[in-house]
Amino acid sequence: MKKLTCNSCKKEITNDLGATQFKCPECGKAEIVRCKNCREIGARYKCSACGFEGPN
Ligand SMILES: [Zn+2]
Ligand SMILES: [Zn+2]
Repeated sequence: MKKLTCNSCKKEITNDLGATQFKCPECGKAEIVRCKNCREIGARYKCSACGFEGPN
């Protein structure tokens, strides 16, 4: 199992049911991972491939 790290706070995600994982909506290349906490507070994420930033 690969380890997932939240794109916003860089915390490792372990059994976080509220966490989400999706491909960058802009380029579709990079995988964005967000933990439950960052989703709740609406923390921004940034795509490592194209630099796209967004709350969603
Ligand atoms: Zn986070
Ligand atoms: Zn991207």
